[in-house]
Amino acid sequence: MRSYRGIFLMFIFATLNCSMATAKETVNDITQLNPIAVDRVVAPTSIDEVSKLVGEHHGPISIGGGRYSQGGQTATENALFLDMRQMDHIVNLDVEKRQITVEAGITWRKIQEVIDRHDLSLKIMQSYSNFTVGGSLSVNAHGRYVGEGSLIRSVESILIVLADGTVKEASRTRNPELFFGAIGGYGGIGVIVHATLNLAENTHVERTTSTMPVSAYKDYFFENIRTSKRVVFHNADLYPPTYTQVNAVTWSITGKPVTVPEKLAPQDALSPMQQSIMRWISDGPMGKQVRQYLYDPYRFAGEQIEWRNYEASYDVIGLEPPSRQNSTFVLQEYFIPVEHFDAFVPKLAAILNGHNVNVLNVSIRHALPDTESLLSWAPKEVFSFVIYYEQGVTADDKKAVREWTSEVIDAALAEGGTYYLPYQIVATKAQFLQAYPKAPDFFALKKQVDPDYKFRNKLWDNYYGSPR
Ligand SMILES: Cc1cc2nc3c(=O)[nH]c(=O)nc-3n(C[C@H](O)[C@H](O)[C@H](O)COP(=O)(O)OP(=O)(O)OC[C@H]3O[C@@H](n4cnc5c(N)ncnc54)[C@H](O)[C@@H]3O)c2cc1C
Repeated sequence: MRSYRGIFLMFIFATLNCSMATAKETVNDITQLNPIAVDRVVAPTSIDEVSKLVGEHHGPISIGGGRYSQGGQTATENALFLDMRQMDHIVNLDVEKRQITVEAGITWRKIQEVIDRHDLSLKIMQSYSNFTVGGSLSVNAHGRYVGEGSLIRSVESILIVLADGTVKEASRTRNPELFFGAIGGYGGIGVIVHATLNLAENTHVERTTSTMPVSAYKDYFFENIRTSKRVVFHNADLYPPTYTQVNAVTWSITGKPVTVPEKLAPQDALSPMQQSIMRWISDGPMGKQVRQYLYDPYRFAGEQIEWRNYEASYDVIGLEPPSRQNSTFVLQEYFIPVEHFDAFVPKLAAILNGHNVNVLNVSIRHALPDTESLLSWAPKEVFSFVIYYEQGVTADDKKAVREWTSEVIDAALAEGGTYYLPYQIVATKAQFLQAYPKAPDFFALKKQVDPDYKFRNKLWDNYYGSPR
């Protein structure tokens, strides 16, 4: 009787163990285009648990944050999948020093909810706040911040769990090879468990807009935006299908009172009216022209003054279509050295129009060089082109996307540029190596710290190893 009770208690203990483990599960991303059957999903809650799981596991391990990457970067078949989203606590906030240490599964939004109370703001992040810190560090994300660029610029240090389960601190001075490999390393070097980030002041920002031919944009940017100390956010929307006009949107620090009193953006889905507008712009008659000549002038009219944290806290739910069953909305991004901006635009337009790609928007941004991370997407100062488009979900649709994407990658490479890695994995190994010339150094580091190739996902299966 006693031994039965012992077994029962052991069973209960195992069930209540702090992590949640489930049998075979499918991991997918927001596009729903990349279902991957992993062996086991575990959501660790502490560094010790990550260290034990990784150190004791002998097969493939994949790491997932918010799962907004769009090409299988978070998983591979039969992996132990570490769902990092339970590690979402703030470890330390030093208001005086404007520095925060967080667990890597925390989202930007959750950080904003805390630092906003101290009039602080994230220094660099993406345009939406749903992403985890670990997932953002691992792609070395960027936003619309002027005078900035890759996220690495705002990172002080990280804690990382390596393949043998050891925990290492990494910064520009301690284990720098791990710091420069893991940031932008797509989970290939280890599990980032903590990050210490530098913060900025939360200020009022005022919006100004200016429409112009795309041929005038580069000079406009260099003369008015690039060196301004007051500009916080800037991007320019390049209108499809002509790709000849841009709407430049700039948010500058102001002492004027806010016109939007909320400190953080709402987390609301699109209303039925907004859904209809989005559907019309994407697929309706003259939808693109309606957006360019009616909707955007209306949307950007009038004075708009917000808190910086409001403009940085948008929720991706505000982009979500009612269904992704027959078609889905997808992103791509290309980084072009600033001096090649004018040469790239017509090439991009010709490819997109030549393949009848249903582009909803191209957002142009700017980034200063990142000469630190091994897989830097901006070894030089670049303009980036973020393409938001609609595609079908059939095998033929996917083939068509691969064709035009490969052409855009070649066009970017021909201008000395790169493409962004969190999106669909289309590039050949030769294209990848041309875009990321320090990849061999990254692979050498990976071999050294992960000799059994534990840390895997579709990106590394494509360019580093072969799928199991
Ligand atoms: C609507 C939308 C808007 C976007 N806007 C921008 C933008 O403005 N700027 C920009 O740069 N990008 C943008 N992106 C891309 C986005 O930044 C990346 O997909 C980012 O990785 C998302 O974070 P995540 O938490 O979902 O990461 P995931 O997709 O979960 O993971 C991304 C990679 O990081 C690895 N990883 C995750 N957590 C860890 C960890 N703790 N340790 C080690 N490796 C880890 C994963 O294995 C994977 O390889 C956008 C994407 C979408 C869908």
